[in-house]
Amino acid sequence: MSGLTYVSTRGAAPELGFADVLLAGLARDGGLYVPKQWPSITVEALERFATMRYAEVAVEVMWPFVEGSIEYDAFAAIVADSYATFEADEVVPLRDLGDNLWLAELFHGPTLAFKDIALQLVGRLFDHELTRRGEKVTIVGATSGDTGSAAIEALRERATAEVFILHPAGRVSDVQRRQMTTVDAPNVHNIAVEGTFDDCQDLVKALFADDSFRETRNLSAVNSINWARVMAQIVYYVTTTTRLGGGVGRPVAFSVPTGNFGNVFAGYGAQRMGTPISQFVVASNRNDILTQFLTTGTMTIGEVHPTLSPSMDIQVSSNLERLLFEIHGRDGSAIAEMMARFRSEGTVTVDTGRLDLLADHWSAGRVDDARTSETIARLYEQQGVLIDPHTAVGLAAAREARADASVPMVVLGTAHPAKFPAAVEASSGVHPQLPDRLADLFDREERLVTVANDYVAVRSLIENTLDTAR
Ligand SMILES: *Cc1c(COP(=O)(O)O)cnc(C)c1O
Repeated sequence: MSGLTYVSTRGAAPELGFADVLLAGLARDGGLYVPKQWPSITVEALERFATMRYAEVAVEVMWPFVEGSIEYDAFAAIVADSYATFEADEVVPLRDLGDNLWLAELFHGPTLAFKDIALQLVGRLFDHELTRRGEKVTIVGATSGDTGSAAIEALRERATAEVFILHPAGRVSDVQRRQMTTVDAPNVHNIAVEGTFDDCQDLVKALFADDSFRETRNLSAVNSINWARVMAQIVYYVTTTTRLGGGVGRPVAFSVPTGNFGNVFAGYGAQRMGTPISQFVVASNRNDILTQFLTTGTMTIGEVHPTLSPSMDIQVSSNLERLLFEIHGRDGSAIAEMMARFRSEGTVTVDTGRLDLLADHWSAGRVDDARTSETIARLYEQQGVLIDPHTAVGLAAAREARADASVPMVVLGTAHPAKFPAAVEASSGVHPQLPDRLADLFDREERLVTVANDYVAVRSLIENTLDTAR
């Protein structure tokens, strides 16, 4: 294997090349894969990027991560195809919000949430690698909304994957459900489980833990710990910084609405590669375990509270493990021990010396639902711009935590306002319109099967579907 290799954050899994990391997802020791070294982007390249097209920068930024696993021309074609599905010509447009605050609109992909940026690419990379190997997989995932539709759009009509997405019946919004169930593709199967999101996740875990099912059906996932998703997200930190900073080393700050920590960790990667980023604001809603961690060094699991920004209603941010690995000098056994302790005791504390390594660049902000609503209302009043509740958490935290008002502060817009119409309308009095290509979403036919919250019932449903599909 030539090219970059990847190591596990827990230090006890084999080093793999990109294609194997892509298909493996989680490492065999329970850790997450990270590149063995961070490639660097030269100042000359940063200057060139400022005027290049998004997909061209994407190829150049990601090439060192994939080299050795895929041919250059095939990779460039996949990247071009992935971002041609975006409605905005710039892929990630920047909007001036005044006061040196900027909105990076990451939501112009097929399902109107930033997850499309990673999954449009990852779906195509999966398909390419599985075709090369002559393999076919069964993708099984649970969703509370955004991830399911992004995964379905990324894998629809691919001959290499049958896709089963479980959602809690009656507990996802109408827009989110319809974005999944109106996809008319023979390999896409929506399962509405009579239970909660946690029940769906438990069912998926049980399917993966069922050795004979996992092996005979070649089970796989495209979840948020997959390295390839983080890699794809590095790109917009680079393009945004080079456009606002002129590519000549003038720094930019980012405020990131955070759940599983994948998005903001990609920003860390961009910074490690040489992108001049001076500050990360980790924005959380009422579920503020990350704010606690970054301010005190202690992380304690609590109950998940439902909020206006459901995609950030999370207590354990899996991708944080990648940052912990970096600040512990890449000591895999120390991380393995920490994670075992966190699992058994529900709490873990990092040495202040380690936490100090984050003091210069990292801050955090907690924004409750009332302030989220106010932020949506105020921005609409003052600028006529509608934002979704996740983005509003990012904007409120950015205003509060920014270190230097002379540095451009970019708020990552993680979802289109029309994806969360009820919260946006209640806050601003305006009903956000779906883009034209989704305007008939409520007239399209839905396809889903409802099933009891019962392991055997779900497994038989999937098996029967696979047997008739093949
Ligand atoms: C997934 C998601 C997030 C959280 O992103 P992470 O990478 O998990 O931190 C924030 N906002 C929206 C709209 C999302 O769909």
